Amino acid sequence: MGEQASGGAANSDKSNKSHHEEPVERKLTVRMSGASTGDAAHHRQARDHDGHHGDGHDHDVHPLTTTAKALVTDAYGRHAAARTSGTKTQAGKSSAGKKAAVNDTPEKPTAAKKVPAKRTTTKAPAKKTAAKKAPATKATTKAVAKETTAKAAAEKAPAKKAPARKPESRTALVRRARRINRELAELYPYAHPELDFTNSFELLVATVLSAQTTDMRVNQTTPRLFAVAPTPEDMAALPPEELEELIRPTGFFRAKTKSLLGLSAALRDRFGGEVPGRLEDLVTLPGVGRKTANVVLGNAFGVPGITVDTHFGRLARRFGWTTQEDADKVEADVAAIFPKSEWTMLSHRVVFHGRRVCHSRKPACGACPIAPLCPSYGEGETDPEKARKLLKYELGGQPGQRLKPPADYPGQPAPPMAPPAAAS
Ligand code: SF4
Repeated sequence: MGEQASGGAANSDKSNKSHHEEPVERKLTVRMSGASTGDAAHHRQARDHDGHHGDGHDHDVHPLTTTAKALVTDAYGRHAAARTSGTKTQAGKSSAGKKAAVNDTPEKPTAAKKVPAKRTTTKAPAKKTAAKKAPATKATTKAVAKETTAKAAAEKAPAKKAPARKPESRTALVRRARRINRELAELYPYAHPELDFTNSFELLVATVLSAQTTDMRVNQTTPRLFAVAPTPEDMAALPPEELEELIRPTGFFRAKTKSLLGLSAALRDRFGGEVPGRLEDLVTLPGVGRKTANVVLGNAFGVPGITVDTHFGRLARRFGWTTQEDADKVEADVAAIFPKSEWTMLSHRVVFHGRRVCHSRKPACGACPIAPLCPSYGEGETDPEKARKLLKYELGGQPGQRLKPPADYPGQPAPPMAPPAAAS
C-alpha cells in the first residue's frame, strides 16, 4: 500500500506540477499583482463582492501599500495605531528615529571607520570610493543636525493626540469576517480535512492520534494500524504493547493507546460498534473532546461544527473575531458570527490558511491575499519576496499532509513513512 502510494505520489508529482501547482501559483500571483497594480478595478471588484457598505467606513480591498494600509486602517478603526506603527517600513523608520534620539550622531562612527580605510589603501578605486563617501558624510551630518533640531522642536511642542478612531462596530466586524471567509474560499476551494480516513471510526482514531503531532505523521502511521485493527472490536482486542508500537511514531503513544483502547471498548459495548453521530455521545468517549467530536461530526456525519485547534484559535484572534484563549469560548464567539452551514468549511479554510500563510511565529503578511482585511497585518514578514518564501505546502511547492488527498488538491501528496534506516 505504501509503495503504491509512493508510486502514485511520484507520478502525480509531475502531473500535479504541470496541471495544478501552476494555477495556484498563478492565482496567488494574480491576486497579489491585482493588489499592487489594479487599484480601480480592485476597488470595483471589492465593492461588487460585498454589495454595499452600510457602516460608513471604506471597506475596499486595497493594494498592500502604505496608503492602502492607512485606508484599511480607517476601515477597522480599533487596530489603527498598531497597524500604523506595525508595518515594517514604518516600524523601521520609527526604530531608526529612536536610535537617532538616543545617539545624536549615529553615522559618525561609521564615517570614522571609513577614513582609515582610505589611508591604508592607496589604489585609485579606493580613492574614488572615498571621494564618493565624503559628501555622504556631509549630508549625514546635516541630516543629523536637522533631526536634532526637529527633535528639540518636537520636545517643545505639546504632544499631538492621535485622532480618535471609531471602534469597529459589530455589523462591520461580521461583514469583514464573512468577507474573509469568502476570500479564503476563493483561495482554498480545495480545503479539506487533512487526515486520511475512509470511515467515521478511522477519522475518530486519526483525530485522537493527531494531538501534539502533524496530520502527515498520523497519515503515515494509520495505514499499518487500520490494516491490523480496522474496527472498534479489533482495536479493543489488541494487547496494549502492540498498539503502542503501532502508534509510537505519533508521540505520546502510551496515553494515546489508553484512549484508543478505551474508546474502542466503549464503541463496542455502548454503541454497538458504531461511532455515534451526536456531540453529547462523542464527548463521553475516552480521549474525545469537543474539537475531536466536531471534526468527526463535520466530516463523517455532515453535522456543522467549528473545529478550534491551535491554528483556528490563533487566526480567529488575529482576525479580531475573538479575544478569547479558551477553545470553547472561541468556538462560541465564532459561531455567533457565521451561519451554521459555513462552520465546517470555515474551519478547514482557516486551518489551511494558518498552516500555509499565517504561521504562528512567522506569518507571511506580505504574501497574504487577505491582508487588507486583517487587523493583524504587520505581525509577520511584510516584504513580499521574503514573505513568499515562508509559504508552505502547495503554496510553497511542498508536499501536502495527506497521502491520499482529494482529487482536486493542487499540490503533491505526502510521502509514506520512510522505512527505518538499516543498522550499519
Ligand atoms: S498572514 Fe498577516 S495579514 Fe495574513 S492573516 Fe496572518 S496576520 Fe493577517
